[in-house]
Amino acid sequence: MDLRDTDYVPAYSTEDGSNLGLYYCPICNEDTLHQILDVGLENYDVKCSNCGTTSVARADYFDSYEDESMRWSQEIAEFLPDDER
Ligand SMILES: [Zn+2]
Repeated sequence: MDLRDTDYVPAYSTEDGSNLGLYYCPICNEDTLHQILDVGLENYDVKCSNCGTTSVARADYFDSYEDESMRWSQEIAEFLPDDER
């Protein structure tokens, strides 16, 4: 999502159709796209688009997860040889 050219809106809403976000699924044991089923004050009800498991995610953690995850993989990649990227 590119926020530079738009007014700030809450990161995820169940009403605008963009209710997917990257999040760690313990069942798949990897980061998968999760659909947000319901938005609470501090928690989201999310559903793994891969295995269908529903879970509760902390809202602030979920909102920042994709950015954090990308940052981590960039930092990790700097320590890996080219053929393992
Ligand atoms: Zn899953």
